[in-house]
Amino acid sequence: MKIMVAVKRVVDYAVKIRIKPDKSGVETQNVNMSMNPFCEIALEEALKIKESGLAKEVVAVTMGPSNCVDTLRTGLAMGADRGIHVEAARDLVPLSVAKVLKKLVEVENPGLLILGKQAIDDDCNQTGQMIAALLGWPQGTFASKVVLDKEKQVATVDREVDGGLETLCLDLPAVITTDLRLNQPRYATLPNIMKAKSKPIKRYTPEELNVEIKSGLEVVQVTEPPKRKAGVILSSVDELIDKLKNEAHVI
Ligand code: AMP
Repeated sequence: MKIMVAVKRVVDYAVKIRIKPDKSGVETQNVNMSMNPFCEIALEEALKIKESGLAKEVVAVTMGPSNCVDTLRTGLAMGADRGIHVEAARDLVPLSVAKVLKKLVEVENPGLLILGKQAIDDDCNQTGQMIAALLGWPQGTFASKVVLDKEKQVATVDREVDGGLETLCLDLPAVITTDLRLNQPRYATLPNIMKAKSKPIKRYTPEELNVEIKSGLEVVQVTEPPKRKAGVILSSVDELIDKLKNEAHVI
């Protein structure tokens, strides 16, 4: 079985986000970028499945400008066998990503498609659900445990829901999106970083895949959230009720 993993290049989680002076978006020039943390978890899970003998190949795919290849190289250094880069001039909205992924799935025919549950730049949490709908495949989102049964061609997925854990049995092929507790992603070792330089990366344009990239969204302005005012410590519940009633007017 082949596993396809979607990995996105995002501003590193440790970077303090800065808004561009013209308020058109977030500053990404001269900013440390890395693989979206949930995508690292997705790739780690695919590599673990391959190492347990249940998959033969792990293919990492990314969509975006040419520097997204760095993220693919990181994925190849972690252990992916090959990469696919779909070059797009700007960031794609989840529906466009899902449409491109659908075409890649038709070309590659994977038995399992693993994504992060969300990208930490836009926090959309949409792409996994959209690609599952476009393909008509079963989906296990927010996975905290994945067990594959090769004989029965089934994936058992524990998923984190509001009330606790839910367990789903998915017929393969299926889409899985990863939550934080699924695994601890590995670091790429220096020899593997060197090896990754010679692993193949196939390039496509959206036109070659026959996907029209468009967005129904227009960014009007990006601004910082308002600064929080200092809190006050109240001496009694009566005082709290008084403030909620007469100052905040919420009760
Ligand atoms: P989102 O729906 O934007 O929060 O993203 C959820 C997941 O979709 C990410 O963790 C990735 O696995 C995948 N994804 C989103 N955008 C891209 C992209 N441009 N390239 C590759 N994978 C992506």
